[in-house]
Amino acid sequence: MHEMSLMEGVAQIIDEAAQANGFRRVRKVTLEIGQLALVDPEAMRFCFAAVMEDSLAEGAVLEIVDVPGSGWCTPCAASVPMSDIIAACPNCGGYQVQATGGLEMKLSSLEVE
Ligand SMILES: [Zn+2]
Repeated sequence: MHEMSLMEGVAQIIDEAAQANGFRRVRKVTLEIGQLALVDPEAMRFCFAAVMEDSLAEGAVLEIVDVPGSGWCTPCAASVPMSDIIAACPNCGGYQVQATGGLEMKLSSLEVE
């Protein structure tokens, strides 16, 4: 389950931010998860509780923002929505679609006290 190592990365970013900015509690963590990032939001929620236990983010609210996938279709020369990393173009039905958006997971904001 790679969500666990992703979440450990998030915990590390929070620790570094806490040292840099001097906060001691995190109330809310917002993660953006791209539809094409191959990250399971439910697994992230599970890992969040496990990884943040006994940390300064213990008991914090986890908000997950879904970022829709998008891609570039070469034959259509257009940007198209993508719901999967390998998906046919909704306009021409071809598979020459290169994913361009919704490919990553990132920590987008922290609410601290
Ligand atoms: Zn197309």
